[in-house]
Amino acid sequence: MKKSFAIIMILITFVISGCSNSDSVKNNTQESAATTAAQGQVEEQTPEENAAEEQTAGEDANPVADIPYTVHGVPVLMYHSIAVEEGNPIRMPVEQFDAEMKYIKDHGYTTLTLKELYDYFENQVPVPEKSLVITLDDGYSDNYTAAFPVLKKYGLKATVFMVTSTIDVNPNCLTSAQLKEMDKAGIQIESHTVTHRDLDSLSYSEQLAELKDSKAALEKLLGRSVDYVAYPTGKYNEDTVKAVAEAGYKMAFTTNGRWSDKSDGILTLDRVYISTFHSMDVFSNRLTNPNYPVN
Ligand SMILES: [Zn+2]
Repeated sequence: MKKSFAIIMILITFVISGCSNSDSVKNNTQESAATTAAQGQVEEQTPEENAAEEQTAGEDANPVADIPYTVHGVPVLMYHSIAVEEGNPIRMPVEQFDAEMKYIKDHGYTTLTLKELYDYFENQVPVPEKSLVITLDDGYSDNYTAAFPVLKKYGLKATVFMVTSTIDVNPNCLTSAQLKEMDKAGIQIESHTVTHRDLDSLSYSEQLAELKDSKAALEKLLGRSVDYVAYPTGKYNEDTVKAVAEAGYKMAFTTNGRWSDKSDGILTLDRVYISTFHSMDVFSNRLTNPNYPVN
């Protein structure tokens, strides 16, 4: 194995405003080699450091083998918009999305719901060795028009993290009818807060309101419990973790780039950043190598 890859400590930060202003997605998206920005959030969130240490100390053996399955990580892939926009790493043409979904199908992966992932982490319910989770953030309308048909074609499950203030308000975002249809068809809808503000910039009560109100809105719309949330732009602090528990969420996701595993903390789980700029080789490496180079 190439140990040099493991010591690359590149953290990805996203500054996007959700589907409420699609023009801002490109301009506000930053895929940078920041070394300090993300470290200001929570002290424990240094998965790259941990991975580097593990790999430095270990051998070339399969890093997945011999790890108790309750700790064995699962790639939780993070997509955003499925559309064409040159130069935007988080707006992926449908042809590329189709190719990646076909890869997942053809290579025998099982796509998990978040409940299945939760039960794997917390209730020791086994999952197939080749398991992964597909997530799409923000709730762009193209998730219905472009991503949904591809996911159905290959029989894949996925989760959309929805910004609830945009529902039936912004034409760039998913409507309540689309959300209900997708949710019933295996594309589950979970929370991405009410307004997509950086949670770490808000007071505790404001954070709690973002988390509780979005959960309640989706539960009313979908008629079921909403138990999972992704933090907008991956920003969170200690108050966020307290508020997300108080709001009743069971599991929460950051944008810290690694496979998701229980050692992350069930309310600060890593995800695998998927960029339009990545080749299929980079994509497949992120699905097969837990210590993939984060860049
Ligand atoms: Zn977002």
